Amino acid sequence: VHTRKVVAPASSRFLSTHITNLACEDHESGFLGSVETFFDRAAKISGVSEKSLAGIKAVDSVLSVKFPVEIDPDTHIMIEGYRAQHSRHRLPTKGGIRFSDEVDLQEVEALASLMTFKCAVVDVPFGGAKGGVKLDPKKFTASQLERITRRYTMELCQKNFIGPGIDVPAPDVGTGPREMSWIMDTYRQFNPQDVNAAGCVTGKPISQGGVRGRHEATGLGVYYGIREFLQFPEVQKMTGLDGTIAGKTVIVQGFGNVGYWAAKFFHSNGAKIIGIGERDVSAYDPNGIDIEAIFKYRAEKGSFRGYGNVEIIEEPITNVKKIKAKVIGEAANGPITPLAHDYLVSTGKVIIPDLLLNAGGVTVSYFEWLKNLSHVRFGRMSRKWEEAGKNKLLTLVEENAGRQLTPQERRAVIHGAEEHELVYSGLEDTMIGACEETR
Ligand code: GLU
Repeated sequence: VHTRKVVAPASSRFLSTHITNLACEDHESGFLGSVETFFDRAAKISGVSEKSLAGIKAVDSVLSVKFPVEIDPDTHIMIEGYRAQHSRHRLPTKGGIRFSDEVDLQEVEALASLMTFKCAVVDVPFGGAKGGVKLDPKKFTASQLERITRRYTMELCQKNFIGPGIDVPAPDVGTGPREMSWIMDTYRQFNPQDVNAAGCVTGKPISQGGVRGRHEATGLGVYYGIREFLQFPEVQKMTGLDGTIAGKTVIVQGFGNVGYWAAKFFHSNGAKIIGIGERDVSAYDPNGIDIEAIFKYRAEKGSFRGYGNVEIIEEPITNVKKIKAKVIGEAANGPITPLAHDYLVSTGKVIIPDLLLNAGGVTVSYFEWLKNLSHVRFGRMSRKWEEAGKNKLLTLVEENAGRQLTPQERRAVIHGAEEHELVYSGLEDTMIGACEETR
């Protein structure tokens, strides 16, 4: 029905599993196998020697731990945790930590490899790493999760798998600023002498050494990436799309931190979000979904089910052969398997790869890490300038409106301006730069 769609899948294994199962009857070789297949394809045309390629492909070091955690006074459970450092050609290594019951060593190794290539694409000077704890965070209370996170961090500390110059975790599926603050605090206790301790992890709350913009950075990068990609004359020719976002219809697969922010930025720039796919059900409304309202509803009820204003599709979006989108943006890490990729390309779809498209998160992590190491708070030098800028902006808006703004309106203007502060322009420059280099 809708021929002008952009899809931004945001929940990694979700799309790949379903696409694999339904698009391709034969079984593909797991997530690590997928990443290696893509690597081998690129390697063939890279002109790099076999010897170097073998060195690049291999995962440097892995940590696999099992530890007991007291869940309540009578119960201890064993938790499995992993961390893989794919490449230490640039230090520290960098990459998120996910909490998911699908985590295993192979997945973490595959994701660590993707981090190395992603950092290289946007020229952020880190090697790639990734960690994971095998659990469903929805099944634990906040204090249980805190105990698990701290215990996992102790393992990282003891085995030298964390540190501002060694390996710097960040949020990923199932984790966020809260978990990062527990990690930092535990690291500090183990390393009281480390003056750079704040740089041992990124994605922290602003009050604890984080930077504004990190939380939404990956989703915003997805938006910037797709917006810039639509400017390519080749893409416009292949898809018949013009270079604008306004008026386009978008389906977002996965509504976590990345999918939510990507949807929000598409929406605020004039696109219509007509579908949101989640693990249990999908929401569909050809007239456009109210992102804020459905997000709030899902946060309260845990599902889109029962949300009155959209059609609820019980079956997840599972069939690669049904995808009508002309442009597919890989917002998750490794969301499309090689066979699904080949099928989509053979039917004329344009796929924007994860390594570029979701690099906004690690790009802003780099700014956070720099801030932590330099012990300088961004904006401190320019406080006065910032004040002057805000006043000038308010005067301009009032002049335009021909009246004084109410205190509420003034706050809204300042809030809007802050949303586009320095960190954002840094991210935008990097994303656009990376797009232009490939052009
Ligand atoms: N987990 C995110 C990713 O996959 C962010 C990594 C980071 O900021 O280090 O890119």
